Amino acid sequence: MVYYRKYRPQTVAELDLEEVRGKLESILSAKELPHAFLFTGPKGLGKTSAARIIAKAINCERNSKFKIQNSKLQVKNKKSENKGKVQQSNNETIEPCDVCDNCVSITNGSNIDVLEIDAASNRGIDEIRDLREKIKFAPASLRKKVYIIDEVHMLTADAFNALLKTLEEPPSHAVFILCTTEAEKVPGTIASRTFHVRFNKPTRDEILHSLSRIIKGEKFDIEEEVLDQIYKLSEGSFRDAAKILEELVISSGGKKITLKTLEASFKTAGLETDVARLLSTLAKRDLQGALKTIDELSQRGTDFKVLTERLAEKIHDLLLSGSDEFQINELRRLLDLINNSYRDIKFSVLPQIPLELVVVEWCIESTQDEDKKQEFQVREESVEAKSQIGHGMFAGNAKSDNFFAALISAVKRDNHSLAGILRGCKLSEINNGNVQFETKYKFHKDKLTEAKASSILDMRASEILKEKVHVVVNLTNK
Ligand SMILES: [Zn+2]
Repeated sequence: MVYYRKYRPQTVAELDLEEVRGKLESILSAKELPHAFLFTGPKGLGKTSAARIIAKAINCERNSKFKIQNSKLQVKNKKSENKGKVQQSNNETIEPCDVCDNCVSITNGSNIDVLEIDAASNRGIDEIRDLREKIKFAPASLRKKVYIIDEVHMLTADAFNALLKTLEEPPSHAVFILCTTEAEKVPGTIASRTFHVRFNKPTRDEILHSLSRIIKGEKFDIEEEVLDQIYKLSEGSFRDAAKILEELVISSGGKKITLKTLEASFKTAGLETDVARLLSTLAKRDLQGALKTIDELSQRGTDFKVLTERLAEKIHDLLLSGSDEFQINELRRLLDLINNSYRDIKFSVLPQIPLELVVVEWCIESTQDEDKKQEFQVREESVEAKSQIGHGMFAGNAKSDNFFAALISAVKRDNHSLAGILRGCKLSEINNGNVQFETKYKFHKDKLTEAKASSILDMRASEILKEKVHVVVNLTNK
């Protein structure tokens, strides 16, 4: 994690999230500085870095804006004119210089006026109590004391209450920056007293903005396409993107970083083809084929986390664009199964197991659906057959055809080959509790009249006709 720490943004202009950068520029340019900020969003998006930048901006020795504000000289609100610009027109700047003693001591974490509290470590009881006792004292060397409370949602109810009291009457020499990954767990009474800044998942350009700092600083050569792949692999985390780049630099051994370097390190080569192959086996509900594909991928050392992501992406695309092989509800179900399996990858004994379970579940489910459909069909047919077939009915009409079809379907579930033989026979007559079939082949007659086969036929025929019948098979030479 060398690069991530070394190339953290140190100034407002270096902040990678465009919206955050814009918001902080305008709030730091405004006449009044808020007493408290609330930074919310997933981890790895630079909330703590942004908090330190604010601490530096308002305490930098060379920062004219805050000097002027402090000496109570009038500062015109140039917010609208300066939107998007860091440098202000009359040489006022909101940027920290990053070289004065104040900036340096804040960057390296040694300034006692900037306090970083991790609410997750002991839920903040002692720290908040300590904070309440000491907050009344003026800062030792800086203009303003800055309290950065990380994972603020972890504070106990008592600690939150203590914090609320402080926020209700904050001393003018203190600024609070509350950071959290779970915004909804911060009580409304606290949130309403803060200036809220959301850290949203970065776009491709924002990830590239952060990587460009590292690439420039370390002066290495990298293919443009690799950056796109890093963006995909990073899942919208600056921290992960920096880590991937660092791994690539190590494995490239000082040479140009190419797609080949990336494929060798992350086993992402040919993933598109693998995803397509896997999907086509799933479309056919080909359980053996799908498991075989997964096995091959596993032996090739495929990264199943990445494979699962690509598979989900592809299904998601099909869901939006439509597919010849899958129906909408099938895609939805498949996406659901894959989504659930994704979080199990991390804890799985073998990385391929969650995906194998998806495949098994999917194929079994489909077969069961098929069975249910068939059963339903048989029931429908039997009702129809019952209502249409009277006694003394002869073969060769639509009514008897219905009965015959229903009987074949029903027998098929007991014994496939028996149903096959039955299909080759001719239904000649249903009369006096007898269902008569004809066959030209002795072998078929023998098979159908074996004790076990005979009892199946009698049972199924009776079920369909809803009366006790006996199936008789006659040999004919016609
Ligand atoms: Zn400075």
